[in-house]
Amino acid sequence: MRHGIVQKFGGTSVGSADAIRRVGQIVAGARERAPFVVVSAAGGVTNRLIALGEAALAGGDVAEHEREIVALHRRILADLGLPEDLGDPWLAELDGLARGIALLKERSPRTADRLASLGERLSARIVAAHLASLGLPAYALDAWDAGLETDARFGCARPLPSTRERIRAAAAAREGLPVVTGFLGREPNGAVTTLGRGGSDYSAAIFGAALGVAEIQIWTDVDGVMTADPRQVPAARPVPVLSFAEAAELAFFGAKVLHPATMAPAVKAGIPIRVLNTWRPAEPGTRVVSSLAPDERRVKSIATKGHIAAVNVVASEMMFQYGFLERIADAFARHEVVVDVIATSEVSVALTVDAAADLRPVVADLAAFSEVSVVRDLALVSVVGEELRDGLGIQAQIFATLAELGVRAEMASYGATRNNLSIVVARERARDVVDALHERLFGAGAAPARRS
Ligand code: ADP
Ligand code: ASP
Ligand code: MG
Repeated sequence: MRHGIVQKFGGTSVGSADAIRRVGQIVAGARERAPFVVVSAAGGVTNRLIALGEAALAGGDVAEHEREIVALHRRILADLGLPEDLGDPWLAELDGLARGIALLKERSPRTADRLASLGERLSARIVAAHLASLGLPAYALDAWDAGLETDARFGCARPLPSTRERIRAAAAAREGLPVVTGFLGREPNGAVTTLGRGGSDYSAAIFGAALGVAEIQIWTDVDGVMTADPRQVPAARPVPVLSFAEAAELAFFGAKVLHPATMAPAVKAGIPIRVLNTWRPAEPGTRVVSSLAPDERRVKSIATKGHIAAVNVVASEMMFQYGFLERIADAFARHEVVVDVIATSEVSVALTVDAAADLRPVVADLAAFSEVSVVRDLALVSVVGEELRDGLGIQAQIFATLAELGVRAEMASYGATRNNLSIVVARERARDVVDALHERLFGAGAAPARRS
């Protein structure tokens, strides 16, 4: 079967019977384009599955989590008029895994992924059954049966090169409307893997690129990629168009609306992405495209990482020796800690990381050849847009805003792509900084973002 479009529905979009009915209308409306549907777990379920695993490991109360998960899925099924026992095989697997973890007091990454996979495996069945009840030729498919094979890095798996051909072969072999689990894959030995939190967007791009569709649609609970996180900045408004590079920067620097890995497969295959609102399907949403028209090269959005830490590495004697930076980078890589921003001076290097990262082993390694200190309670505020490349105006406005607020930039980074200026500030002032920057760059007095 040749598919013309991928439609991915996120957690809220499949989190209730009402939402799934909307999904039904959207998919039915796209029927002519032979949609390939990708779904997330119902909202909150992945969090709960992870919490359940933790509770089982700690000998805590598993039953409460299990009851909630069972009740949510049964309620959705009942409200949709579908058989209430439709999810039972996966709910039974959930119970078995919880018991196994509790009994063995062990939860390997492999077991954690298997447990986390159940949300998507349940929602794919429910959505497919609902679409079938509307008369669409829908069927549920686990990502691996749709061809998605990954490496064995549980928790952040990546597709193997063989995946493209497998996906094409699986699609060619079957007619109809597949409803595929996002977030998941399977490694060559047959164990279930996950692509990292928020990874269903990435799944959609992997499938879309392999199938060569005309568009990858990401259906979510907001009107597109906005000028800031609307939960933080109520005045945020949708951005009509972004380049792949801008979207990737925004995602990497904290805008949760798209998973950071999503853009790479789409760029490679040259397939546009569109971010749309399941509750307001007539809104134009955000187009993410490979290149922008001159009047679209504006400042687009502000992303925030609300809680980061900075690692300062001082080594006066070694600074100018070959391989110093490599040794630093190596310490972070060895312990799998992702670095967001790097700034260097004559005698020191500062690197920022997520505050939740376990820095102890990194610091121990670095201390072998340098003086290390860690500063906590910082936040990273990133302004993204191609306009930053063209002129000094935006940069000047950003620093003027900080000065007006009396906030010092602890670190700043203007990346090699020159479409992103990231500033590290004290965590307690981040909110003020984002509000003031938003008002200045996107407020009533600022130049309006043009609709395309
Ligand atoms: P889904 O379950 O549909 O994948 P997510 O919760 O992962 O949805 O992503 C959508 C959420 O991302 C929005 O509800 C919003 O709070 C948050 N968000 C953060 N930054 C932005 C932004 N710049 N534009 C839009 N949404 C954003
Ligand atoms: N359900 C997964 C998560 O919560 C994947 C996703 O929603 O994209 O992380
Ligand atoms: Mg998401």
